[in-house]
Amino acid sequence: MSSQSPKRDPLETPAAIKAHAVREGFPRGFDDTQIWVFDLDNTLYPAECNLFAQVDQRMGAFIAKELGIPFAQARHLQKAYYRQFGTTLSGLMQVHKLSPEPFLHYVHDIDLTCVPELPELRAAIGKLPGRKLIFTNGSRRHAERVAGKLGVLEEFEDICSIETCDFVPKPEAEAFDRMVKRHGVSPENAAMFEDMPHNLEAPHVLGMTTVLVHSDCYDHPVRSKIKGWSQPPEHVHHITDDLIAFLKTIKLT
Ligand SMILES: [Mg+2]
Repeated sequence: MSSQSPKRDPLETPAAIKAHAVREGFPRGFDDTQIWVFDLDNTLYPAECNLFAQVDQRMGAFIAKELGIPFAQARHLQKAYYRQFGTTLSGLMQVHKLSPEPFLHYVHDIDLTCVPELPELRAAIGKLPGRKLIFTNGSRRHAERVAGKLGVLEEFEDICSIETCDFVPKPEAEAFDRMVKRHGVSPENAAMFEDMPHNLEAPHVLGMTTVLVHSDCYDHPVRSKIKGWSQPPEHVHHITDDLIAFLKTIKLT
């Protein structure tokens, strides 16, 4: 397990990103929400767990072994494919015709010791009326392991994993289209919870209510852009830095 800690910069969190902030004048609430869709990584568990640091290292190791190249070169390819194709896996599939399953199995074979049991989160999700889904760019096995460790797995009717979406990842609109079709989701009656702001653009366009689960744990360049916001962009309807507290504040009818 990596001991690398994510970069934290809590003092620079802008005023617009305070807990439970809602875009001024934005009327969209949860009165019509019947389907609750949650991202998994850094959304259902605290970003401070930094699980991605382990996945990140294992991606490099997998690429080095599969392609027979030095680790440093593998890491360079890993990041280049992420930038060019949206995910490292997409690049490996398109450029090297690699099968996705061995990659997913290897990179998600990580130590979950830091993932806490969250009975309060389970209770808060359990009280939400209607259907609940996990929608992740990770594998189904990874989602089952992590949600199982959190103690929330039983609250979800299903997992829309990267396999479910035929390896088309968020933030691509195609991934959301597939999720909506596969799981019979009516976007105007659905809410999407995510830690990555750009993953809320497509659900906003579809008509879903969007919630950014924010953390001071800036371990991704996209999330670090949040520090530059004077106010949240149009596709971010709600922001919280405490998912459990936020779910408790939702007025249920
Ligand atoms: Mg995430």
